[in-house]
Amino acid sequence: MKCVMCKRGETKPGVTSVLLTRDDFTFVMRDVPAEICDICGEDYINGNIAKELYHLAEKIKDQGTLLDVRKYQMNAEHICSSIS
Ligand SMILES: [Zn+2]
Repeated sequence: MKCVMCKRGETKPGVTSVLLTRDDFTFVMRDVPAEICDICGEDYINGNIAKELYHLAEKIKDQGTLLDVRKYQMNAEHICSSIS
């Protein structure tokens, strides 16, 4: 699709890192599948994946963690259940 940020680039499937912060908690997810603009590098993450990441970040934050870095796995259900 056409990039809405620079309006010139085309997005291509790739992976990106997502950084979420809430209060003192920082959450980083690496290798998240996304559409990446070939000119400005803007990343577009699927809405369902974004929702999963927020959900997961909330869960980890509730454990009192301040920093968590992990790699995205296609089956996010698995990630969620592994830390509950
Ligand atoms: Zn762009």
